Amino acid sequence: MSTSPPSTSEAVVPESNHRESVVDFVRWALAQLQLEFDEQAGIARLRLSEADRSIFDGQAELQLALQNNVPDKQQESVDLNGRFCTWLLGRLKTAGPAVHVRPQEQPLAVNNISARLFAGYRVDGGQVHLGGCQMTDFPFLRLSFAASENGETVIRHLFVAHDGTSVTDQLAQELGLLKVEPIPKFPPRLDKAALKTLVAAGRRVAAQSSTSRDPSAATIDPLAVTVVWVKQASGQLQFTIGETTAHLPFSGWAALVEPQPFIAQHSGASTFHLAATDDGRIDAVEEITTCEHSGRRVLRQELVTCSVTGKQVLEEFTELCPVSGRPTLVDEFAECATCRERVSRSVLEHDVCMACREMAKIKKDDPRLVWILGEHAGLDRWNRWQLSETQNVYIARADSLLKRLLVVVDKETLSLHHLATSGRLSSVWIPVADQARDELLK
Ligand SMILES: [Zn+2]
Repeated sequence: MSTSPPSTSEAVVPESNHRESVVDFVRWALAQLQLEFDEQAGIARLRLSEADRSIFDGQAELQLALQNNVPDKQQESVDLNGRFCTWLLGRLKTAGPAVHVRPQEQPLAVNNISARLFAGYRVDGGQVHLGGCQMTDFPFLRLSFAASENGETVIRHLFVAHDGTSVTDQLAQELGLLKVEPIPKFPPRLDKAALKTLVAAGRRVAAQSSTSRDPSAATIDPLAVTVVWVKQASGQLQFTIGETTAHLPFSGWAALVEPQPFIAQHSGASTFHLAATDDGRIDAVEEITTCEHSGRRVLRQELVTCSVTGKQVLEEFTELCPVSGRPTLVDEFAECATCRERVSRSVLEHDVCMACREMAKIKKDDPRLVWILGEHAGLDRWNRWQLSETQNVYIARADSLLKRLLVVVDKETLSLHHLATSGRLSSVWIPVADQARDELLK
């Protein structure tokens, strides 16, 4: 093959899964050089400029045999070693050190990307905008080699990324590197040194892609060096609901940029469906719900379950029940008829709280009782103690032959909350009047 330079070891052709027929490569080269041709029934008619006619025996128009391997006399062969292809490849080379193309299918404008991104989101009562977007072109390299497969000449394309690394078949497909088109005006600038570095990287990748047994074997020279300009997009989406905005950055190859989930700042949830709370925080719609007490739209994580009603309500409308320890709406508290503490209705039975109903017998040396008796020495005259405790108080009861005594004291300060007595067989507790208290306690 004439494209292969003579060398001591035989030059090798890199392997590639990206093949193209010579005819398609010729069609591409003609389009790239803006040489207009008219193709019908496998024959392309190409007008030649005056300057080029001498190469083709003075013909003004060539009939290129694109389908017929054995062209008749008036037709020109598109064999890679023939005079037409030699001329065509020469024209490509004189056009510059590389020809510049871009994928046929890639978003060229910000609008193409934003439409795709916007479609990924739902914003209840608001909108998604583009809060800035930049498109940057990155040079990929396509090296095209002639190869012989089953006695037929084909073109193998090898792709190198802008950073000099090889491009996987999948990425080449996804970025549209396999279907390229000329850049009609002003391709992005790539200085000579950068192009040289990229081509050198390409030659290295090509050598690695060759299945030569001889590690010193050189790869053949490429037929054409093409720079494929691939667009990268970066920017941010802006979600607006009422007065509030939230942002989501994006970045990637323009052809591949997909909507990414929005990560809510407050709940940490990720979502494609955004909404706002009543106080104007943007979050995942799944995380926003209604407080069943106030009707306010708030974050799910801010709600607690009322122990009495089972309603999901904002914590600020509740207090913790000292007996159950569970949050309860403030108007679902009532006073226990025995200890006179405010407790949630859920722990009351016949107006007596669970702490008062379920008292445990204790010995007189129980440290809690020792502590209470230390503060209220008069109580030491009583025996047969029972005790229970809530989060706030100790409830202690003593029995004697004729009377019973109930004392409720603060767990921290031991100050008296309530003092009552009752008859031995009565279930009614009678509060001890203030002036009678000292008699019992001192
Ligand atoms: Zn009670």
